[in-house]
Amino acid sequence: MITSTPVKTTCPYCGVGCGVEATRLPDGAIRIAGDTAHPANAGRLCVKGSALGDTVSLDQRLLYPQVRQDGVLRRASWDSALDKVAGGLRAIIDQHGPDAVALYVSGQLLTEDYYIANKLMKGYVGSANIDTNSRLCMSSAVAGHKRAFGEDIVPGCYEDLELADMVVLVGSNTAWCHPILFQRIVRLRESRPHMKLVVIDPRRTATCELADLHLPIKPGTDVWLFNGLLCYLARAGVIADDFVTQHSSGLDAALAVAHEDCSDPLKVARICKIDPDALLAFYRDFAATGKVVTAYSMGVNQSSSGTDKANSIINCHLATGRIGQPGMGPFSLTGQPNAMGGREVGGLANMLAAHMELDNAQHREVVQTFWDAPAMADKPGLKALDLFHAIEEGKVKAVWIMATNPLVSMPDADQLRRALDKCELVVVSEISAQSDTNAHADVLLPALGWGEKDGTVTNSERRISRQRAFLPAPGEARADWQVLCEVAQRMGYAGFDFASPQAIFDEHARLSAWRNEGATARLFNLFDLTGMDAAQYDALAPQQWPQGQARLFGDGRFAHADGRARFVPTAPRAPRNVPDEDYPLILNTGRVRDQWHTMTRTGKAARLSDHLPESFIDIHPNDALLYSVREGELARISSAWGAMVARVVHGGGVARGQVFVPIHWSDANASDARVGAVVNPVVDPVSGEPEFKHTPVRIEQF
Ligand code: SF4
Repeated sequence: MITSTPVKTTCPYCGVGCGVEATRLPDGAIRIAGDTAHPANAGRLCVKGSALGDTVSLDQRLLYPQVRQDGVLRRASWDSALDKVAGGLRAIIDQHGPDAVALYVSGQLLTEDYYIANKLMKGYVGSANIDTNSRLCMSSAVAGHKRAFGEDIVPGCYEDLELADMVVLVGSNTAWCHPILFQRIVRLRESRPHMKLVVIDPRRTATCELADLHLPIKPGTDVWLFNGLLCYLARAGVIADDFVTQHSSGLDAALAVAHEDCSDPLKVARICKIDPDALLAFYRDFAATGKVVTAYSMGVNQSSSGTDKANSIINCHLATGRIGQPGMGPFSLTGQPNAMGGREVGGLANMLAAHMELDNAQHREVVQTFWDAPAMADKPGLKALDLFHAIEEGKVKAVWIMATNPLVSMPDADQLRRALDKCELVVVSEISAQSDTNAHADVLLPALGWGEKDGTVTNSERRISRQRAFLPAPGEARADWQVLCEVAQRMGYAGFDFASPQAIFDEHARLSAWRNEGATARLFNLFDLTGMDAAQYDALAPQQWPQGQARLFGDGRFAHADGRARFVPTAPRAPRNVPDEDYPLILNTGRVRDQWHTMTRTGKAARLSDHLPESFIDIHPNDALLYSVREGELARISSAWGAMVARVVHGGGVARGQVFVPIHWSDANASDARVGAVVNPVVDPVSGEPEFKHTPVRIEQF
């Protein structure tokens, strides 16, 4: 509904999931305010959220479908574009089988879009070749949760970060990347000055400014540090014996592995390149403090040992029984607005809908029967990097990319160009006419953006919130769920006759509550949200699942078949590629405070560009001297995979031997600025998440 009264919706950027009130003013401007009733932010917004009104203009928007003819993208009708997509997919499936087509989607999609995409691929096409840019974001946390808890569950809630006596932030520049959550911690700390804040991060970031202790860890050595902590906790006699005995298994095996390399704190300090006194101070405080939350983000997840890093953290919480109780627990901070919603509908290539398992025959039968699906996928599909390699090898011949710009965001991003150039059919659903990936499309479909689309998202604390439309659809743009349904119907599939996001959400909620038995049903069950009519769905207030449970596992019951949590032995290992004579520096990548992803939205708000107007290479002044590059001048960074150019800065937070480059800039908004082209295509063997934080590079004058 289009209205000039405030519309309650949800910020489309980070995983904090703040509530927003958007009002259309008579002059066409959009007034943005924080929603005081939303539990995530209680009325506060960070600078990105506050500037949302500046990002909704139609400037640079993709407004009508285009189809490539004679090598050129030309305007087309929706009918001909949809026929081209459906006909192209059908022909490739008929000739080469279902695994010859793929969807690559995004944590920017709403849950309803995600649900339909997943249903189409896994239940009707019959392939699990649907992966998402969430693979690049939190798949290591997902895998860590599943190994430890038997289910991908974040056990705690945001309030725990305020109730804790010690908050440990690992691999997270929370002040910039989850700003409202960081503000919540900082505000509470003013009234609880004994609360300790520890930051474990190779860089001295803005988050460190308020920390009691910063451990500038050597990149990639987190498992040594947390294995060392596990050994220390055992020596200090603070293992929660009753909890461990009654509710877990595997502590002895995890301790045995940890002891091999990490029992001596001095050795751990040497490996992690941390001052031994600082490391011991952290170990002592962790052991002595009951209420500890360890929140971790991309510095943990985006690693070739990301899953082990997550489990080494969770091991320490299980060992002390600090989980599922107020003010304590491991906490994964998701990057994207709907990375959690995607997990709920099985948006990753190795997941099924409603938190059920793709490799569980009973779960597959439940989902197939519920969907009345003709061709259920029965094996995991290709994860993001493997997917684009399979495209280059000619095994996957059609890909539909939705709401993401992989030509910029993937590691070894030049490989994407080669892959998409070889692909027989590339379909891109986008809001921006400037996205780098558009140039490789055979069919370009205009999508609805924030403020235009309608549905739900789920934030890092399992809270479902509505995104509501308050703007008309621009040009000929359509909702992603609608386009997916129209293609499915053109391919001859029943089961896609949805009239609204509400109807899709209802099916999603009913599936979660239908013959979904055992621990999965107890933990992920939207039964209370089934049967909503349009008005109830429209009025849906933000709420956590399972309803009324801010915390999970407090009763000691986990989702493994025996009800016990698992300690996972985590043998530390170095990143796959290490610096050498040719590439002596370690490249670390990440976000800046005022931009989001590849800037197709935040790049439109002039005030957001004031903070940092261009890409940069942050390097220690002594390294700049050593490699003959000067602050303020352009330099080139090269790896074995590619190169990029940006201006040299000395931000003051980067240690010797490392450089930091932001992820946002691309060839669409600067020349040779895609850091993704430089990043090594190495992934975690369990989660498939790429190692964005550790690529050997060299730097030289440009
Ligand atoms: Fe949006 Fe995240 Fe900022 Fe909240 S903290 S306003 S969700 S970007």
